[in-house]
Amino acid sequence: MPLTPLEPWIKSKIGLAATEPLTRPLLEGYQLRKLRETMAHARRHSPFYRKHLQGCGEPDSLEEVALLPFTSPADVQEDDLRFLCVSRAEVARVVTLRSSGTTAPAKRLHFTAADLELTVNFFHHGMSTMVQPGQRVLILMPGELPGSVGDQLVKGLRRLEVEGIVHGLVHDAEEVLHSIETLEIDCLVGIPVQVLALARHPAATALPPNRLKSVLLSADYVPAAIVLEVSAVWGAAVYNHYGMTEMGLGGGVECSRRCGYHLREADLYVEVVDPESGRPLPDGERGEVVFTTLTRWGMPLIRYRTGDLARFLPEPCSCGTVLRRLERARGRLAGTVRLSNGGALDITDLDEALFPLPLLLDYQAVLSEDDGRDVLDVTIKTTATDNGEASHQVLRALFDVPAVRAAVADGSLTLRAAGHGAFITTGSIKRTVLDRRKEHIC
Ligand SMILES: [Zn+2]
Repeated sequence: MPLTPLEPWIKSKIGLAATEPLTRPLLEGYQLRKLRETMAHARRHSPFYRKHLQGCGEPDSLEEVALLPFTSPADVQEDDLRFLCVSRAEVARVVTLRSSGTTAPAKRLHFTAADLELTVNFFHHGMSTMVQPGQRVLILMPGELPGSVGDQLVKGLRRLEVEGIVHGLVHDAEEVLHSIETLEIDCLVGIPVQVLALARHPAATALPPNRLKSVLLSADYVPAAIVLEVSAVWGAAVYNHYGMTEMGLGGGVECSRRCGYHLREADLYVEVVDPESGRPLPDGERGEVVFTTLTRWGMPLIRYRTGDLARFLPEPCSCGTVLRRLERARGRLAGTVRLSNGGALDITDLDEALFPLPLLLDYQAVLSEDDGRDVLDVTIKTTATDNGEASHQVLRALFDVPAVRAAVADGSLTLRAAGHGAFITTGSIKRTVLDRRKEHIC
């Protein structure tokens, strides 16, 4: 099993010679040094961190990092400019993130040219897991703007002598499948539900055998049912990438073992904490992912709470790396809503129950209240071959979710499913059960 290419890359980034083995103590010593440098830089230049870290000593060990306060998304939403550590003239790109279905203010992230280069460098080395020189990659993500995900991916791939072609989000699956054939595409990069829509199109199986060698799915959470379907249709190796804008787009990518993300540990210090107490959790226990940037100078983030749920896999990866592995199966804190009967409904449970349905391409679940009862409305996008049976299948599949079954049985939940023509999920919106009841309890 080949070693993840992230290991030699990280080894060179932390200044080790090619002959010197990377060890956890060497890597963690580097992380502590960079974390202290980041703290000092943030305190000196960011009005937010000057106040936020007042009275906090610099950690003498990575264990002591747990004594530092968290940074929340709300802190960034409140006033992003207070995080800036450089002049606005030095900012090369500002990314604005808006949450769907809420009135929360937008979140803005600022990156210098050097910050953007860190991401290109990660894409260069991360993509070498799945593509070879001379191959072509079709990127089903936005890429028109300099510094956008597609633009940075093209730059990273160029360093591997791989041609990246930005297509943008999928609106016409047939046209994309035609492009894969005529442009002789070897690898696809896209968001899971959009790639699923390609795989479930009638023309998907008409692609020449072995045309697609690999597919990279990128999102905060990748349903296992989608990975299985995409690999079954094309026989391509399906890799997963974990990242978010706040991490500098890229966070971690699977090695050829495809069993958990290896993280860019020279740029990010990642922790998993108990979402309620905030205490760091031991490897193997699931909690909230929290990260600290180690090399970002424009807008560093210290102990940023992602809202993502995951755990570190305690067993070493069979690729032989010393890098840690974050599990692939995951959800979001905001992805769980409390039903009126006390049950917990999680978007990941709905995903795993619904995406195996062959007629389904995408869906959205909205919880509302009618006369004191919960109502779960599932809006679905289905394949062209659906003659109306998909909504019945969706209702039946929802009964496989224990929380749904229990709530329907005790009369506290009504289910409804209806069709919709357009894609519901886009790359900028995180999948969640939207809770439109009067009292929002997460
Ligand atoms: Zn590995």
